[in-house]
Amino acid sequence: MPTPDSATDFDVLVVGSGASGGWAAKRLSEAGLNVAIVEAGRPQSDANFTEHKPAFELKYRNMAPGIVSKNHPIQSKFDVCNEYTQDWFVNDHDEPYTTPADKPFNWMGRLRVTGGRTNVWGRVSLRFSDQDFKSASLDGYGEDWPISYSDIAPYYDIVEKYVGITGMPEGLEHLPDGQFQPPMPLTCQEQIFRDRVKAKLNRTVTLARSANLTRPTNGRGPCHYCGPCERGCVTHSYFNSAFTTVPDALKTGKCKLISNAMVHKILMDPATNRATGLLYVDRNTKKSHELTARAVILCAQSQESTRILLNSATREHPTGLGNSSGALGHYLTAHVRSGGGRGEFPTLSRKHSLAGPNKPVGIYVARFRNLKNDPPYKKFLRGYGYEGESASNFNWRAPGFGNAYKKSLLESRESFEITGFGEVLPRFDNFVEIDAEKKDIFGIPVLKIHMSDGENERAMIKDMGDSAGEMLEAAGAKNIRTYANPSAPRWALHEAGIARMGADPKKSVLNQFQQTHDVKNVFVMDASGFTTNPCQNPTLTIMSLAVRSCDHLLEEMKRQNL
Ligand SMILES: Cc1cc2nc3c(=O)[nH]c(=O)nc-3n(C[C@H](O)[C@H](O)[C@H](O)COP(=O)(O)OP(=O)(O)OC[C@H]3O[C@@H](n4cnc5c(N)ncnc54)[C@H](O)[C@@H]3O)c2cc1C
Ligand code: SF4
Repeated sequence: MPTPDSATDFDVLVVGSGASGGWAAKRLSEAGLNVAIVEAGRPQSDANFTEHKPAFELKYRNMAPGIVSKNHPIQSKFDVCNEYTQDWFVNDHDEPYTTPADKPFNWMGRLRVTGGRTNVWGRVSLRFSDQDFKSASLDGYGEDWPISYSDIAPYYDIVEKYVGITGMPEGLEHLPDGQFQPPMPLTCQEQIFRDRVKAKLNRTVTLARSANLTRPTNGRGPCHYCGPCERGCVTHSYFNSAFTTVPDALKTGKCKLISNAMVHKILMDPATNRATGLLYVDRNTKKSHELTARAVILCAQSQESTRILLNSATREHPTGLGNSSGALGHYLTAHVRSGGGRGEFPTLSRKHSLAGPNKPVGIYVARFRNLKNDPPYKKFLRGYGYEGESASNFNWRAPGFGNAYKKSLLESRESFEITGFGEVLPRFDNFVEIDAEKKDIFGIPVLKIHMSDGENERAMIKDMGDSAGEMLEAAGAKNIRTYANPSAPRWALHEAGIARMGADPKKSVLNQFQQTHDVKNVFVMDASGFTTNPCQNPTLTIMSLAVRSCDHLLEEMKRQNL
């Protein structure tokens, strides 16, 4: 590694500009601290957004997956990495990771642009509840979180009001209502599914609470239903850190965005056991640079932040920074989502049009297994929800020729699909470590990821398929097809838990404010701190916890404790 050639003083260094980093930078710079966002990716701008660009204007018409997968063999397994967006994603060859041969793991959604994963995320934004934070007390497995719902509820309010969440209140204790903007309307299939599943099975189907605006908010326009949010949005109608929290932070004049800066490690002063700053490698020049600050906050996404902690090992912290418990890198979780079903609603013959509208939000089926006041479900612990969406299409398989064919082609086909998202139990033997044999193009050692399913996950996936069939049938769908596939290799977009929070420093890496137990000026504010990974999507909780932890950091600095 070449000698670093610069050092600059800040109050706080925030690594990453995605969901958590954007909020940390905004909260701290608005409170008057000098902040640097140290971001491995390039700057993002509205000029890169292509949500209104037809495929025929692209070089390969978005029809050449081989071109995209050449440099993105892992990232392009999920179709949000496509000809429109591929440049935002990591080059899988330049920045690899490894796995044991018998445990393949798809580490997708690795973005290298301001805003991180929030550029392309699905935007489903759900609160956790005490059913989640105190799940160990309820069923005896694992550890409780060191916080309760009442600790985070005010921060959910702050984040939701700013982000803008369209949603319907349902009054469920295990899926608390939030500060919703007016709901987007349900499609006919969705409304029928909601009504009949409630009436016949007493399960709650609601609009997927989603970070899409339905009314103007802070200069951002309401959604105009064009559809492909994952390609950006020039009216800023969905939540993306790149055009919300990060510009707010920069507007204070107190925050600097350092792009193309791949953080290698945290630098330590062994005499005081304090972090002094960071070492990063410039993506373009490959030169190393140092930055100094009073505190360091990692917001690089779970595995990346944990990789930085593991790569920051010193003589005093030989197995990685913050790892006196031995828990760092362990208890990796990522939702299972390989069970679900699909059906058709042939009686809903409306006229299909290519002109839209294209509602970017579907439905969500709230968890219904193992709820607090119900008898435990015998087949597995915890639970799952479903995301669902309806589709309307031309009858492409219409038989015949000539006018008869043209006529039947125009008969629309209304279908509906639901996919389970299930909680994975944290297990010590699902873990990440540094692969001593391999480095990325910056010379930084890469991660080796060990992840497999347990019995609980297998039973849950089967139940996702069975219950999907049961609900589609209750809704009157036809041609129902269900599936329950093994989840390996995992479709990992919601990874969490590898620097877990806990009250006991012997069993956890972070305290309830996401501050490492071992080094008090190092914080990790992404999902690595999650003690468990409930079935609800994680990002609303990531952002709300980050704001809460920043408020703690500000208090500690005020009291001269940091
Ligand atoms: C396709 C897709 C759909 C999703 N849908 C949903 C959904 O519907 N609901 C939901 O709740 N969540 C969803 N998620 C997950 C959500 O995007 C993440 O939970 C969230 O963005 C994580 O925030 P973060 O701050 O931890 O990381 P990110 O938002 O990923 O940001 C991390 C940033 O850190 C930078 N970085 C990484 N390593 C380094 C380094 N060494 N040095 C400097 N910078 C670094 C990256 O370049 C990146 O910009 C989805 C994700 C994907 C990919
Ligand atoms: S569907 Fe709405 S939020 Fe998504 S890109 Fe279009 S206008 Fe923006």
